[in-house]
Amino acid sequence: MNQLKAPTSYVSASVIGIGAGLAVYAAQTMGILPNLATFIPATSPLDLKTLDDSIIAACLVVFALALSLTLNRFGFRRCWRWMLVSIVTVCGTGTVGFLVLNVDLLPIPLLLSGGLSLLFAQINRLWSLDRQLARALFHSSAGTNDAIGANTRLLSGLKLLNTVLPLSEAVVFRYDEIDSLQPVARFKGAARNAQDPRRNSVWREGIDLCQRAAASRQLVSQTTPGQNSSTVAVPLLHESETAGVLLIRLTSEFSADDAPLLAAVGSQFARNLERESFSQNQAGSQSLSYFSQAGSKKKIDALNVLKAVTVEQRCEASTLTHIDDGVAIAYLDGTLALVNKTLLGFAGLAPERVSTMDVFDLLHKFRTDVFDEPTIAVRRVLQTGDEYQGELNFEKKSQILNLRISLLRDRQPASINEPIGIALHVKDVTATKEYEKLKSDMISLMSHELRTPLTSINGFAELLTADETIPPQAREFVSIIANESQRMSRMINTFLSVTQLQRKDKQEVLKIPLRLDEVVRETITSLQPVAKKKRIRLVEQPAHRIPPVAADKSLITQAVKNLVNNAIKYSPERTTVTVSTALEAEAVRVSVEDRGFGIPAESKERVWDKFYRVVREGQEKDEESTGLGLSFVREVVEQHGGQVDLDSEEGRGSKFSFTLPRL
Ligand code: ADP
Repeated sequence: MNQLKAPTSYVSASVIGIGAGLAVYAAQTMGILPNLATFIPATSPLDLKTLDDSIIAACLVVFALALSLTLNRFGFRRCWRWMLVSIVTVCGTGTVGFLVLNVDLLPIPLLLSGGLSLLFAQINRLWSLDRQLARALFHSSAGTNDAIGANTRLLSGLKLLNTVLPLSEAVVFRYDEIDSLQPVARFKGAARNAQDPRRNSVWREGIDLCQRAAASRQLVSQTTPGQNSSTVAVPLLHESETAGVLLIRLTSEFSADDAPLLAAVGSQFARNLERESFSQNQAGSQSLSYFSQAGSKKKIDALNVLKAVTVEQRCEASTLTHIDDGVAIAYLDGTLALVNKTLLGFAGLAPERVSTMDVFDLLHKFRTDVFDEPTIAVRRVLQTGDEYQGELNFEKKSQILNLRISLLRDRQPASINEPIGIALHVKDVTATKEYEKLKSDMISLMSHELRTPLTSINGFAELLTADETIPPQAREFVSIIANESQRMSRMINTFLSVTQLQRKDKQEVLKIPLRLDEVVRETITSLQPVAKKKRIRLVEQPAHRIPPVAADKSLITQAVKNLVNNAIKYSPERTTVTVSTALEAEAVRVSVEDRGFGIPAESKERVWDKFYRVVREGQEKDEESTGLGLSFVREVVEQHGGQVDLDSEEGRGSKFSFTLPRL
């Protein structure tokens, strides 16, 4: 990663340069440095002319400063040639000055100050890089490590082991800095040998067993002769390194069949030990970690934690391979990270083909009329972050697949939800679609087939009611038949319209600009006679500047009618029903409020369901009631992109309302 140099790095490089120059100047004035004449014996050193003190100091400081700043700016690899040239120049001019001009041009102090300045500047650069490395490592490992404490995970692992093996004791050991085994977690099963006088020697034997296991990197077991118990030491290996040893004592003989289980559980223990070691290591100041052994150990621990997390994430990803839906994950360069077996089946691909494909090649396999440009779908997902969803109908294969393409985001708090990949989810909906179609075909078929005989029943019953020759009691029965058959056909009609609405897509409803306050006014006028019959005051609350909505006029009018009708029907005489229209942010709300019977809390959710009726005393025989009115309202409102609402208190009244998006 190429980072812009921080200004502080120039400050420290300058301090190093000036310091090196002044230090060498001090050594020169104290006469500690060797004289040129020591190396080149020519004329007498007494004749040698020297420069003025201030010039010497300035030369040394400038030279050291120039070298340290150059190194800081360009790094050693890019500027070593220039440094070589400057050293050769210093040596050359020094020799010429000495031999020809008989002047000491300070080659030795210059070389020394330059060398010192380069050495310290390089150490400073490495130190600063190390600080960055430590910060990045500790930050990433701490971020992955916080959720559950390392020690808790070790103990939970031991408990899990106890469910599959008859443990009397289990101890997890970790290697400390001086390579001796330290217990970090312990689990006690049936503590039979707590008072055992041989306890110390048993402990020592256990440690020996652990050391053998660690040295051989193999599981070692020992059965206690005469007693029905055994001791097993399992090396805890993580990425070919031994992090510690697990010592378990069993209340039965150890069976070799359990070795693979222990090896698998052991690697998880090893990963948790890395976590434990990282959280335990209290390395001192981060800035001095470059010079400290504990600091370096902590960096290794942090790296091991990261490796452990990588392994665990592989485990998370592998669960996707076992699910019944097709799943694929791609990185943001299009490379496929994972394609599960089900998706390969949907795409008709052999597993080995995947390594040569990218996400577009894979999506290409799902091209249909509605999904003919996979690149456009992916681009839209990347641009907007919104999910793409499409129903792909493969007629030749008689298969309907639901495809979802979504953006995966990094959930780490520090990453501000940054996108990190693309997920494809393919679900086979053939059976569900077939079932839904069958169901709705059946419903509409039945309803149509029922309507014809019902019309005849109703027609003839009405004819008979007018027949004077029929005895009065029989005529009463006939009129019941006429009423009931009428009710039934009303019910079928409403049911049919709700089902039809449900089968329609939102786009299919014919929408025109509509003023809801006008719809309300018309409905009130048409229902005034019904309200008057019950001596109910039906009023409109005047509204100001209501914007139009896009809606199907007859559907919305019927919905408002249903609500007002209900308010009249479920209110006692001499009460008021108020209908209002109001503007709410981006929607227009129509509310119908009554002072009627209200709706019990447990029925509030269900009143919108088909055929649901609130049971109240005296209302069971209500001929008008079908339980379909409100489900029709909800269906219509949702088809228009709106929402229904209910606020009601039993015995006090109800407020039914719905919103539709404003134009
Ligand atoms: P119904 O044909 O039975 O009126 P709805 O779907 O319109 O069918 O209503 C479902 C149930 O909700 C009704 O049985 C009724 O008890 C209750 N309900 C509807 N509106 C009101 C209201 N304004 N006040 C009290 N109860 C109501």
